[in-house]
Amino acid sequence: MAAATSPQKKRGAAVHNPFAGSPESESEREALARRSGIREVVFGVQDGLLTTMGLTTGVATATAGAAVAHTTILIAGLAGALAGMVSMGTGAYLAGCAERDLKRAAIHKERGELQSQPLEEHREMVGILMERGVPAATAEELSRSLAQYPQLWEETHIEKELGISSGPHESPVRDGLVMAATFLIGAVIPIVPYIVASGLGAVIGSLLLSAVVLVWVNAVS
Ligand SMILES: [Zn+2]
Repeated sequence: MAAATSPQKKRGAAVHNPFAGSPESESEREALARRSGIREVVFGVQDGLLTTMGLTTGVATATAGAAVAHTTILIAGLAGALAGMVSMGTGAYLAGCAERDLKRAAIHKERGELQSQPLEEHREMVGILMERGVPAATAEELSRSLAQYPQLWEETHIEKELGISSGPHESPVRDGLVMAATFLIGAVIPIVPYIVASGLGAVIGSLLLSAVVLVWVNAVS
């Protein structure tokens, strides 16, 4: 444990780093985040749209010709949209919570192991490096060097061994809100034609508008 005292100093030491905050790595990360954000939005909109389209078309077909049909379709569509929004939003929130808890537990366990069995963890890292084609002697050396920097050591174990990002945790509340909002946006689309028109015109308008939005949404994602 000779290295136990020095890492703390190294961690805080201000080393001149010409690559710090490189605009390239920044924009790549942002681009990736944006892509996954777009996918989230598309999924919510599609889900809301398809659910309500099925519902309004079904009710419109079933009640065709009835005097109260128009209001019935609107109420059914809006009720479906709200129910779906709540259920999908809650689902996304709970899934986010479960994922976050799982990740936290795995990181916590790994941290404990790094403290309690440093030698096993060193061997593990050597194995991981060798699996990736690093020769044994270099792997030994690399692992020892990494272990000098506690934060990097921990991150490397978490990322290479558990295959998860050690970065900031996801926000389940945000996941839930994004899902709820995007579902509602999608769900409102097939309902709009029933507000401005009625009868067969509204049914066709709703299907057409839904199809156009679905194609457009798929094109931008
Ligand atoms: Zn480990």
